[in-house]
Amino acid sequence: MAVFRKDRIMSILERDGSFTTKYRLMFGDTPVYVSMKATLLDDEDGRYLIIGTNNIDAQMKREEEYRQKVAEARNRARNDFLANMSHDIRTPMNAIVGYTNIARSHPEDPELIRDSLEKIGSSSHFLLSLINDVLDMSKIESGKMQLNVGECDLSAVFRRIEDITSLQAKNKSLRISYDYSGVSHFHVLADELRIEQILINIISNAIKYTPEGKTAEIIAGEESLPEKDAGRYRFIVRDTGSGISEEYLPHIFESFTRELNTTINRIQGTGLGLAITAKVVELMGGHISVKSKPEEGSEFTVTVDLKFAGEDFPDEAGGKTASEPADVSADLSGRRILLVEDNDINAEIAIMVLSQYGLETERASDGQAGVEMVLARGDGYYDAVLMDLQMPVMNGYEAAGAIREAGTSYCKDLPIIAMSANTYDEDVRACLAAGMNAHLAKPFQPETLMRVLGEYIKR
Ligand code: ADP
Repeated sequence: MAVFRKDRIMSILERDGSFTTKYRLMFGDTPVYVSMKATLLDDEDGRYLIIGTNNIDAQMKREEEYRQKVAEARNRARNDFLANMSHDIRTPMNAIVGYTNIARSHPEDPELIRDSLEKIGSSSHFLLSLINDVLDMSKIESGKMQLNVGECDLSAVFRRIEDITSLQAKNKSLRISYDYSGVSHFHVLADELRIEQILINIISNAIKYTPEGKTAEIIAGEESLPEKDAGRYRFIVRDTGSGISEEYLPHIFESFTRELNTTINRIQGTGLGLAITAKVVELMGGHISVKSKPEEGSEFTVTVDLKFAGEDFPDEAGGKTASEPADVSADLSGRRILLVEDNDINAEIAIMVLSQYGLETERASDGQAGVEMVLARGDGYYDAVLMDLQMPVMNGYEAAGAIREAGTSYCKDLPIIAMSANTYDEDVRACLAAGMNAHLAKPFQPETLMRVLGEYIKR
């Protein structure tokens, strides 16, 4: 009734010359959809209203079916995702729980305990990389992944990649070679961690899907571009492994797809690595492609245009260049750390690790207690603070801010390192904005903790 009000229709007709609407007629219980168009016609005989109607029943039904299909597909994708996640989390969890029980019930057998711990370690590692991948994927899908572009030293990236992947290859008796001779500018502007992630993903796959005794090679090269201050970098990862079937190849960059599942090929994976890799390459404005023949091998190529950075990086933190690895062997024994951590288990782990390296630790169980301890003990007492972020009473950001604002130069310079399970880029930025020196993600490796402490504690 409201739509067909005469004055409303007349005003639309005066303005637009025509009026269209859709409506539903009920024939008993059966609806029929109709569209109607009315056009105003002025001629010498007077004014006419020409009205046409059209049965759009079939079209409406098609649209409704389409909407339903889209909703169903979305539902199915979500269910598949949850089923996949549940399976992929349970598999390593099963190993962790299982081997913990085995180790616990054989206290007399150190060999068995060592073997169980080894397996618990590798399953935890897998679980962590799965969680990181899922977080990356959800960031990508919500459009929130951002690149942290800065000065990047490709030679340091290559060195780290080689360290990690040559060990993986050695464990599998696989011959692997690295050739960077085609690169002439190693200092570029790029997101160093993401470049490393892309290459590690592809190279690890080449190793994973290539049987013992075969080969893998990595070739990096650079071509010039019309712009003088940038180059087109090409990374080729070639293996003589299992190859990829023609049917699967078009789906290789889709998330959660794998050619064969773990039960069949016994190779652990989630099908997320290449999906993330392709998205990150896309975010960098680059291109990824793959060629492969079953039983012969695969070749992945990533190309990306990168701007050159000056050869000399400005000094950062105490005169170190960005590419120089921190001194892991720094002796920190006897140094005193304040650990601000509300969770007892996490605190116990950190304290044990620190004491293994000869450091002395005092603990505060929330931010406020932490601030009070720093102020009460006085200048020079602690060498560094390890700060959890989410805590009751006062969180880590506020506590770091309060220490910085305490006024003394000791409080301004005291190294405060966030140690947190909040690991998104924005969490890291918030830590730095709150006056902390660095951010360390939980779970952490003991060596990483020591390296970060070594970097910030004054000798
Ligand atoms: P995942 O390795 O966790 O399964 P990826 O997304 O990294 O996930 O890879 C998806 C699939 O692509 C793998 O399961 C595998 O079937 C195939 N694949 C990737 N790289 C290679 C390779 N170098 N050789 C053969 N198959 C590969």
